[in-house]
Amino acid sequence: MLPRRLVLILAGAVVAFMAGLPAVAQSVERLYILNCGEGVAGDISRWSPGVNVGKSMAFVDSCYLIRHRQGWLLWDTGLSDAIAAMPDGLHPADARGIVWRRPTTLIAELSKLGLKPDDIRYVAVSHSHPDHIGNVALFPHSMLLVQKAEYQWPGPDGPRFKPGPPVTELEGDRDVFGDGSVVILATPGHTPGHQSLLVRLPQTGAVVLSGDAAHFRDNWDNRRVPELNFDKQQTVASMQRLADVMAKEHAQLWINHDKAQRDGQKISPDFYE
Ligand SMILES: [Zn+2]
Repeated sequence: MLPRRLVLILAGAVVAFMAGLPAVAQSVERLYILNCGEGVAGDISRWSPGVNVGKSMAFVDSCYLIRHRQGWLLWDTGLSDAIAAMPDGLHPADARGIVWRRPTTLIAELSKLGLKPDDIRYVAVSHSHPDHIGNVALFPHSMLLVQKAEYQWPGPDGPRFKPGPPVTELEGDRDVFGDGSVVILATPGHTPGHQSLLVRLPQTGAVVLSGDAAHFRDNWDNRRVPELNFDKQQTVASMQRLADVMAKEHAQLWINHDKAQRDGQKISPDFYE
């Protein structure tokens, strides 16, 4: 005779199968998009060499907060909260870059949802550029999930991550909660250890959070590689990898910095299920 617990698990799987739902989708509950910055790029050809030279474009900087039965996961931490106090925003060294502002802080966005940094179990970052790791230091008790190649990539002025807080240095993909609902995908190229995130939401379906595998839709569609990327070939291969995952999962692509896309999305405290 089967143990009662196993019977219950099998019964649950049968119900999920009959409802046409993947069993994995039950354990991730919500996804919030947080405003982690707004900016204006001086010249977008920096991201699309030879195309739209001299043209300015608005960017957004997004963080994503995922509620799973086993705990909260924050995907990217955005620009430093300190930028919220800069009246003129943060200006780039190269005028073709982005002037960033922070209309709200990450701490304020979390507290709107009744959360403090210590409530976040995992902080996963797509890569180590300042518009993605700006607030990592606010989460000294969360487990940081980052590729080893990124964590150990020397920065221009020393280590990119302050040693001390808990970290898991990944070497490839990682099924974060062990149920297939939140999966880190290794997508190197923009930086040595760049990663993206596949989230299988119960109602919305599968979503791929790009990181900076592409910065806006037009670059994705045309497989363009920004001039500052670490490795051009890897970047193109990673875009193809994401396209393959999306085809298999029937997934949407949510592009972190794409303002046109995000203008049409629900922003926290609204959420996706
Ligand atoms: Zn970025």
